[in-house]
Amino acid sequence: MKVEARLFERLAGGSVRCGTCQRRCVIPPGQEGWCKTRRNEAGSLYSVIYGAVSSMSINPIEKKPVFHFYPGSRWLSLGSLGCNFRCPGCQNWEISHWTRGEVGVPYLSPEDAVTAAEANGCIGLSWTFNEPTLWFEYTLDGARAAKQQGLYTNYVTNGSISPEALAAIAPVLDVFRVDIKGFSDTTYKRIGHLEQMAGILEIVRQAKSYGMHVEVVTNIIPNMNDSDAELRGIAQWIKTALGAETPWHVTRFFPQRQLAYLAPTPISRLEAARTIGTDCGLRYVYVGNVPGHAWANTYCDSCGDLLIERYGFDVVENKAKDGSCPACGQPVHGVF
Ligand code: SF4
Repeated sequence: MKVEARLFERLAGGSVRCGTCQRRCVIPPGQEGWCKTRRNEAGSLYSVIYGAVSSMSINPIEKKPVFHFYPGSRWLSLGSLGCNFRCPGCQNWEISHWTRGEVGVPYLSPEDAVTAAEANGCIGLSWTFNEPTLWFEYTLDGARAAKQQGLYTNYVTNGSISPEALAAIAPVLDVFRVDIKGFSDTTYKRIGHLEQMAGILEIVRQAKSYGMHVEVVTNIIPNMNDSDAELRGIAQWIKTALGAETPWHVTRFFPQRQLAYLAPTPISRLEAARTIGTDCGLRYVYVGNVPGHAWANTYCDSCGDLLIERYGFDVVENKAKDGSCPACGQPVHGVF
């Protein structure tokens, strides 16, 4: 379904400047933006993917991964088409690298998405699989509808949303599960075809300042973003800008697409990344995409007791009592 975009500026000669993400495309009449999901028609900008649902599933929130917001809860996950990055090893490239111009996937209204979440015992909606910023109008309407029914909301995002879009959705967005893909402009250029990372970091900082629950993911790709210096830069930034309590997930990369020639990330490298994070003072650093790994569990950062045991995306046991360690009483960061 096509709807007029909420954030754009009309320019001379019928062009428009899109204000949805940090690319801020200037789009001449009859043309599309970088992501192909927004089109200038007669001097107005339209989203062509409103309600276009390419993927829908019900998962525990651990799958996003989010570990400190109602652990073990069920969420409805929705994805659409397109992306404002072109990560060469994207796991969801069939939908996120979409550029065909024909949408061709089913329509689901925001209200029906909320109804589906409630009918399936979900406590919230996640917009995920592709970059949720691209169907900003739909996620904003969906988040408002979810809030009216008392559901929670979650963006699984690369952080390349504009400050004004984030400000608009902030009052109805609870969780910001954001990638920090590296800690240099060079890495962001190689991975996301984005010229600089400063705008991403500023958005994450703003999400935190709006009161959202923030968790950070770095998918560690061999020879791309796995140097000690880059990982230490991310960890130190998280501690300084977001706080030592912010969960950081260092996840295993599996070969895909243009990076199919690489080997999966060695588990030893993920463990080294986890050590870098804790050495920098982060309290909750998780090894991801390694089912059964001891560092996928949550431990009390005061006495070291095992609090939440996980296997894959499942919570095996949650010993936290009212969000605190039962042994020493130390509160666990997050929402329980
Ligand atoms: S959403 Fe981003 S990439 Fe797409 S048209 Fe707007 S500014 Fe360009």
